[in-house]
Amino acid sequence: MLALVLLYRMIGGKLPSFPKNFSSKNRELEETLVECATCGTYVTLQESLQHNEKHYCSKECASKA
Ligand SMILES: [Zn+2]
Repeated sequence: MLALVLLYRMIGGKLPSFPKNFSSKNRELEETLVECATCGTYVTLQESLQHNEKHYCSKECASKA
């Protein structure tokens, strides 16, 4: 754990504190916006629901499709 802290400081403390492979995938989900196929609202991939290869902002919109 101490080694991780030292490494973190050596590279300037710019990396997030969670594991790298987790963070890059998670960031992609958080930052990628998709349009709801029913109402046109933009939501992040993380928040969206996928149904029939389309994205929806909520279960309500997905059920209207
Ligand atoms: Zn919607």
